[in-house]
Amino acid sequence: MRGSQSPRTAGRIRAATGLLAVGSLGILACAEGTPRPVPSAPFVLVTLDTFRADHLGRIGGAGHRLETPNLDALADRGTLYSRALAPAPQTVPSHATLLTGEAPASHGAITNRSRLDRPTIASQLRDAGWRTGAFVSSFVLARHTGLDAGFETYDDLLGLRERIGVGSLFRDRFPPTAERRGDRTAAAAIDWLQRGTTRSFLWIHLYDPHAPYDPPPPWDRHYDASGADAPGNPQQVRASMAGQGWTNLFVPQDLRAAVARYAGEVSWTDAVVGTLVAALPADATIVVVSDHGESLVEHGEFLGHGRTLYEPSLRVFAIAAGPGIARAVVDDPIPLDAIGRALVPLATTGAGLPVPDSEPIWAFTYGERSEASVDPDPGPRFASYDGPTKWIVDGRGNVRAFQWREDPGEMHDVAAEDPTAAAIVLAESQALRAQLEAARSTESAVRALGYTE
Ligand SMILES: [Zn+2]
Repeated sequence: MRGSQSPRTAGRIRAATGLLAVGSLGILACAEGTPRPVPSAPFVLVTLDTFRADHLGRIGGAGHRLETPNLDALADRGTLYSRALAPAPQTVPSHATLLTGEAPASHGAITNRSRLDRPTIASQLRDAGWRTGAFVSSFVLARHTGLDAGFETYDDLLGLRERIGVGSLFRDRFPPTAERRGDRTAAAAIDWLQRGTTRSFLWIHLYDPHAPYDPPPPWDRHYDASGADAPGNPQQVRASMAGQGWTNLFVPQDLRAAVARYAGEVSWTDAVVGTLVAALPADATIVVVSDHGESLVEHGEFLGHGRTLYEPSLRVFAIAAGPGIARAVVDDPIPLDAIGRALVPLATTGAGLPVPDSEPIWAFTYGERSEASVDPDPGPRFASYDGPTKWIVDGRGNVRAFQWREDPGEMHDVAAEDPTAAAIVLAESQALRAQLEAARSTESAVRALGYTE
């Protein structure tokens, strides 16, 4: 926020203290600010795979006493979007949206098997003379996805052993086990930054919170499983889900321990971010955003994502910090395509952080197909945030609605109170489905490798 702000936005800025207050305010800040000189400092985009918004310390509230001091510190000196929304709870569609600033109905990468077939923000920055480099931590984002467009360096070297083993590994319950631990990805990225002599755009992707949950010591035992949320025992969960038509359902034996280890992965990832930030010059601009969340047994989705459209999967966060970026907290919902569109203006002028508007925000999923379970509702499914109401349309056309502020657990379906609106949402979801399938990009070669999730 450098100087002026319009009267309309001025009253919506909470800012300044950096502490998360109660309530909901928009902001912002740099949207109408005076452009600063093009920085010679790096612009760094960090994507955190599978990082639930409520596991960020500044947002909190998952039943753990979560420790994310490095991300909290970054949020305290910048702008935190506490309720950013993934366009889909899947890695490729969400990253394609961040890297193009377009919704999936526009860019066409609608599942993890899609191949993006257009330029990215890296293409724009490269064409403007920037050095561009990407360092990803999972095979799911390797160059077969087309997300390497515009990156002069695209480091998807996950290790020869993992590449050779990919066929068998992907038959496992958690297919993208061809991954690189975050500290190694960060080390490679920092080395690349240090070798640059011109303005650099770095995208670094950290995958650790994605299953399997196996953080390195001391994070593997840092959170006490007995203190974790009680998601029920596996036998009860299996019986309940069988009653809803699920078969071959995978349910871990020790749900509490798994939830605690997920929290350990989150704190480990925070530590990696701390290492990365410490290596950056003081005038670096950094944006950190998660691509989707993770269901920890809520609503019948077990330690995963991709099937359901509830808050644990769709709600993410974004943090922007750097020269000229206001200290502020934005609690109103904002879609990731708006964050994506802001990245090039932010890199080149320091301006352009988005302000929430009143347009409905849509999300969808075509679901995960896995031999490990048979989903009785194959989808696609849709969600629409419209003011205080969040609508969910399942694969059979059933419409539900939740008042997301008053009912954050999404337990009380209020769709019957407004059947006219429900019918409109259903019709809009069908129109969106037609748009998505018309825009659908080609499928990547990953299918040939047996990757079907
Ligand atoms: Zn992901």
